[in-house]
Parts: sequence; C-alpha cells; structure tokens
Amino acid sequence: MSEKRTEISEIGEFGLIDRLHQKIKIQHESSLKGIGDDAAVIDAGDHVKVVTTDLLLEGVHFDLSYAPLPHVGFKAVAVNVSDVAAMNAIAKQITVSIAITNRFSVEAVEALYAGINAACEHFGVDLVGGDTTSSRSGLVISVTAIGEAQKEQLSYRSGAKENDIICVTGDLGGAFVGLQVLEREKQVFLANPNMQPELEKYQIVTARQLRPDARMDIVHELREIGVVPTSMMDISDGLASELFHICKASGVGVTIYEDKLPIDKQTFDTAVELNMDPITCVLNGGEDYELIFTISQEDYKKLEKHPDIHFIGYVNKEADGKHLVTKSGTAVALKAQGWKHF
Ligand code: ADP
Ligand code: MG
Repeated sequence: MSEKRTEISEIGEFGLIDRLHQKIKIQHESSLKGIGDDAAVIDAGDHVKVVTTDLLLEGVHFDLSYAPLPHVGFKAVAVNVSDVAAMNAIAKQITVSIAITNRFSVEAVEALYAGINAACEHFGVDLVGGDTTSSRSGLVISVTAIGEAQKEQLSYRSGAKENDIICVTGDLGGAFVGLQVLEREKQVFLANPNMQPELEKYQIVTARQLRPDARMDIVHELREIGVVPTSMMDISDGLASELFHICKASGVGVTIYEDKLPIDKQTFDTAVELNMDPITCVLNGGEDYELIFTISQEDYKKLEKHPDIHFIGYVNKEADGKHLVTKSGTAVALKAQGWKHF
C-alpha cells in the first residue's frame, strides 16, 4: 500500500505554510502573533519585539554570475529589515547564518560581509550573531532580524477598514524588469563571451534587483508625523499578491487605479523595450521591497504632500471584490499572479 503523496505545487507555498500552521500550538502568552504576518510579535514588557527570517539560496534567489557578493550581502539584510518595516517597527538587531562551499575564499566571504556591514550601517542595525557551516551546493544565507515598537504602533495585515486609503511608497516593477535585463545580458554573454554586457543604460532597474533598499526611512517618518497605518505589508511578491493578502487578512475588498500606480521612467521604457506590459510589471513583478499600507481618511492630510508616498486606491467591502480601474475607466478584476516558488 502506498502512502498518499501530495505535490507541493498542488497547494503552493502559501498552502503549505497554512497546512503546517494548523498543527502548531502556541504555548506562551508572550507570543502575541505567530505565523501569518510579515514578522512574529513578542511581548517584551513595556514594548514588543518583532522577529522575521528569510533564506537566500544561490541559484534560486541570486545568481553569482551577475550579482556581486557585497550586493548579495546587502540584499540579504535589506529583505529582512523590509519585513520589520512592514510591521511599522524599527529594526535593531540581525543574526546572519551562512553555508559555503570550498569554492569561496576568505576574501569572497569578506566581500559578502562588506555588503552585510554596509547594510547594518545604512539601516542602523547591529549584527549580533549567526552560524557558519559548509554547503555542498552553493552559497546559502539566512538572516533573522529583530525590531521594536510600542504595541499600539504595530501595523498588521489584518487592520484595513472600509474607506481607508491605499498607499504605496517609491515606485514598482523595477526589480522585476532589472532581473529580465540581467538574465538577457547573461544569455548574450554565454552565447558569446567576448561580448561586454550593456548595462549602463539600465542602472536604476538592475540596482533595484541587485541591491534593494528597505523602507525603514518611511517607518521613522510615520512616527514623526504621528500616523499609524491601519494595515501594512512589504511588497516582495508583487503589489497584486500583497493586496490579496491584506484583503484576506482584513476581510475587505479594494479598488486601485491604473493611473495612480507609481512607475519609474526607466522601468517603463525598459519594460516596453523587452515587450512586457509595464502595468503587469508593477502589479505582478516581485522584489521591490517598497511598503503598501492603508490609512484612515483622517490621516490623509498628514501624508498628502509626501513626495514618496502614492495614493493608489481605497478599501471596499469584501463583497465588492478587488478591482483595478484602467486608464479608460473600466473596472477589471484584479488577479494575483505574484511569485511562485514551486
Ligand atoms: P514574507 O514574504 O513576508 O517573508 P512569507 O510569505 O515567507 O513572508 O511567510 C508568511 C508567514 O509564514 C510568515 O509569518 C512566516 O514566518 C511563516 N512561515 C514561512 N515559512 C515557514 C515555515 N517553514 N515554518 C513556519 N512558519 C513559516
Ligand atoms: Mg513581507
């Protein structure tokens, strides 16, 4: 008799996490929030700590044929700081664990750490530990980030309310377009190693892919202005996919407007050059590490003039669904393609 075998691709990454989640029991009152948001929340007496972890694998999350090691180190920290920011918390410490093959020299590992140290300085976090081990198949980096906030300052995915305004920071789609450029240049180089890659023209988008920033700056600014988003996430899998998470967790629907979606000129031009629809890149491209959040109408005035916060739509009732209003004024159902890891 054979045991039942379910392919991971049948239920997907989120389906798998949901299934594991069902069997996990929380034993401590101090575990305020477990699986299901950008970071876990732990009661620390007069404040709360948030904890998040991300794993980066060579060949899956980065390709050392075009990603410089310092950038890989910087990115490994940034993606974790981004999940702390997504809770509206301030990142304070990280731990870094690495698995390396004998292909890496001491100097190569130091180059990786040059990027990690630069990120620690940039985000104001302390590297307080980690683990080092050998790997048989490429470089593996796992970073855990710890942040702090007052309990009432936290923004969960679940707090969006009808009539709230949906905000996104920065611009979107760049990291995905940058990845397409890097992959194209890699293929050109593999076909003819004498060809030098043409990358100057694409510096903004390739930097978005190789060395993303995390929007800890926005969290500090929100504190100063006195705004606590009603819900928040970071945009790692794509805007549409993140909106679906907020809708599910908050029990709401959304309407967003195509003409409000922020896109950089280089992202737009490069997408067109690569025969891709720029709006699809904005909606479904991943790894921008910008923030998406919702605010109550009363807070709009405080953020209205912010140069790097864009108001892309509003929150509806769940029954009204999730829509994108195109430039021509037609409402189409929003689809979340996002990143599929399996
Ligand atoms: P993000 O994209 O923000 O890093 P993920 O989609 O990776 O978040 O994870 C969603 C939630 O599932 C988080 O709360 C995360 O801690 C949890 N999670 C992911 N993988 C596992 C796992 N293998 N075991 C337990 N929890 C997990
Ligand atoms: Mg996240």
